[in-house]
Amino acid sequence: MAELNKQKIADSVPQKGFFGHPKGLFTLFFTEFWERFSYYGMRAILVYYLYYSVSKGGLGIDQGTALAIASIYGSLVYMSGIIGGWVADRLLGTTKSVFIGGILIMFGHIALSIPGSLAMFFVSMVLIVLGTGMLKPNVSSVVGQIYPENDNRRDAGFSIFYMGINSGAFLSPLIVGTVGMNYSFHLGFLLAAIGMLLGLIVFMVTKNKNLGLAGSAPANPLSREERASAFVRIGGGTVILAAIIVIFVVTGKFTIGGFINTVAILGFIIPALYFIFMYFSKKTTTVERSRLIAYIPLFLAAVMFWAIQEQGSTILASYADKRTQLDFAGIHISPAWFQSLNPLFIIVLAPVFAWLWIKLGKRQPTIAQKFSLGLLFAGLSFLVILLPAYFGGDHSLVNPLWLVLSYFLVVIGELCLSPVGLSATTKLAPAAFSAQTMSLWFLASAAAQALNALVVKFYSPATEMVYFGVIGVASLVLGLILFVLAPKIQDLMKGIR
Ligand code: GLU
Ligand code: ASP
Repeated sequence: MAELNKQKIADSVPQKGFFGHPKGLFTLFFTEFWERFSYYGMRAILVYYLYYSVSKGGLGIDQGTALAIASIYGSLVYMSGIIGGWVADRLLGTTKSVFIGGILIMFGHIALSIPGSLAMFFVSMVLIVLGTGMLKPNVSSVVGQIYPENDNRRDAGFSIFYMGINSGAFLSPLIVGTVGMNYSFHLGFLLAAIGMLLGLIVFMVTKNKNLGLAGSAPANPLSREERASAFVRIGGGTVILAAIIVIFVVTGKFTIGGFINTVAILGFIIPALYFIFMYFSKKTTTVERSRLIAYIPLFLAAVMFWAIQEQGSTILASYADKRTQLDFAGIHISPAWFQSLNPLFIIVLAPVFAWLWIKLGKRQPTIAQKFSLGLLFAGLSFLVILLPAYFGGDHSLVNPLWLVLSYFLVVIGELCLSPVGLSATTKLAPAAFSAQTMSLWFLASAAAQALNALVVKFYSPATEMVYFGVIGVASLVLGLILFVLAPKIQDLMKGIR
């Protein structure tokens, strides 16, 4: 995007009106609030819906497969950001992509709200995966566009936006989760659909007034010739993919296990190709190549971190359901409510961390050191949750405060790694690829959940201690290695802090 254009876009956005921030932030905040409400609401009941028996309203899939499907689902949701980023950047612009994404998501939740079969679940999954890919990275990248160049409110704008994400994620397990677990899963999914509808309404009603030109046109549109060849390639690719799937289904070779393995492999191949492509691109300068090398260990650390964080809605969700005392302090706790803990701790502690980094100023840890702290706390969050089994065996029900402690620790790690990670990605990615940086960062979560799809099957109450122990220690060891490498990584970053 030309500099002039960037300025013109910022000039078209009313620069005040939302806590001293551009009015556009209101629109983006509430659109993403409701989108995350729908996503994390669905996520809070998803694994239970998959593995609860049919008589309890679920699909009755065996637990290991259910947890692997939920992981693959999460992986695809973040992988599809590449498609969404590309469509917005080259074809439709951000605003239209966000709108289409929201519609797909809403229909995805509606599909789940109709009592149905596993087939209906897969239809819904395709809609939500594509819809989130169209919406999430794009709505986040508009946040960066509504401020004039060098406006020092931008970082604060992203922090407010992050609060929107986590407020949606906090409320929905309490609402969608309670209704889904106590009345019917389908009613829960319907509430998720209504949430997305509200987000769409906010977006449509306020976008013209608040967002001005931001996102209205593709930043780097395809030329006529490029369009023709792109359509041929996309069309061809889709047909081949569909043919492969049909052949597998018809010949009876399609298995859920095979599907899980394929996506898991893609989860690693796609980011690897992305790196290779950026590294060897003629548009990448020598300094940028060095920064890309520095980014690789950070990316791998992010994969390890999100692998643990995302197990909060799979493995720990099952732990909440099966291993935890749910009648506690006179109330009956719904297992879905535990999903509100992560965003709650984020909302409470994010300002503390923002203050801490400012207070430490130049003495604050470097980017790589913050990432290693992220791994340290993620590792600890798994090590504490093996203690109840160590003290009490794997049969008795566990005090829920252990889970609270585990979610708390992972959040300390998340606050060291997640907000820093996104800005590090924007600083370290080569300029020619800046439009895709949001998608690049989400690929770490995609790879993480691809990895989870392969490992979650090793979890059972009987293997619990080994499971949490091995993954927890792996995270600690990687954190330590990263800490040792941190000065070297800092050199490779060539001046980025
Ligand atoms: N929980 C955050 C969100 O939903 C993190 C996304 C990520 O995995 O990077 O926005
Ligand atoms: N902390 C996550 C994110 O920032 C939300 C969650 O895991 O519930 O959105």
